[in-house]
Amino acid sequence: MRLITLGTAAAGVPRPGDAGSGHLLEHGDVRLLVDAGGGVLGELVRHAPLSALSGVYLSHLHHDHVADLYPIALWARFTKRPLPVFGPPGTRTLLYRWFSLFSSDPDPYVEALRITEMPEWTVHTLGEMRFMACPVEHNVACLALRAEADGRRFVYSGDTRAGALLEEAAQGADLALFEATFQDLREAQTPEKTRDHHMTAREAGEVARKAGVKRLVLTHLRDNLDPAVSARQAQESFGGPVEMASPGRAFDVAPKA
Ligand SMILES: [Zn+2]
Repeated sequence: MRLITLGTAAAGVPRPGDAGSGHLLEHGDVRLLVDAGGGVLGELVRHAPLSALSGVYLSHLHHDHVADLYPIALWARFTKRPLPVFGPPGTRTLLYRWFSLFSSDPDPYVEALRITEMPEWTVHTLGEMRFMACPVEHNVACLALRAEADGRRFVYSGDTRAGALLEEAAQGADLALFEATFQDLREAQTPEKTRDHHMTAREAGEVARKAGVKRLVLTHLRDNLDPAVSARQAQESFGGPVEMASPGRAFDVAPKA
């Protein structure tokens, strides 16, 4: 498998040239768009046209992970390509609400996509890629992604606090893409409210170490953070090198040499 990180910004202030969360996971002809935050499609089409997608996987329904599902649904409707969308419970309702805003008949827009609201811990397949929705702990239902092909395992955390569920999802991953929204609190710094729903870089490194992750990549940093500091804090708890996602960067999901 190969991962291309497309958009890495956390919710909040956009960064120039960086979209909300979205990543492309490829294996042979299979191309799965993993999350579709605002602006992700602009980066996606540098690597693959929308018509080359095999499906879209949504970890959760916060805007920085789903805003570009709206143009994807319009594209599916008007090109008559019933793209599979795998998402948490509520995915279909979200689309109904969006399209009810301008149409008295939202059905054709919603039904243009083949929506599967993913039960936890069940395996789905797309070509030779098997994947599973693994529940994690956010302030809304969130499903980490575990994908396998050719005996390799990739895990994407979605948005989550550190905990046993993510550790279970990530067991033995050859490559893990983890959110690291925050850094260690500085002295006298007041913790932000959303800190309970996300990980620090150090927590991401610790969960990855406990799960036996072989290679760790961090994403979803707050816009005001220095990525080098996040990498250093995660390396200390992970016990090995940590890489940072950036728009268009590719990672082979392969066993550690
Ligand atoms: Zn997010």
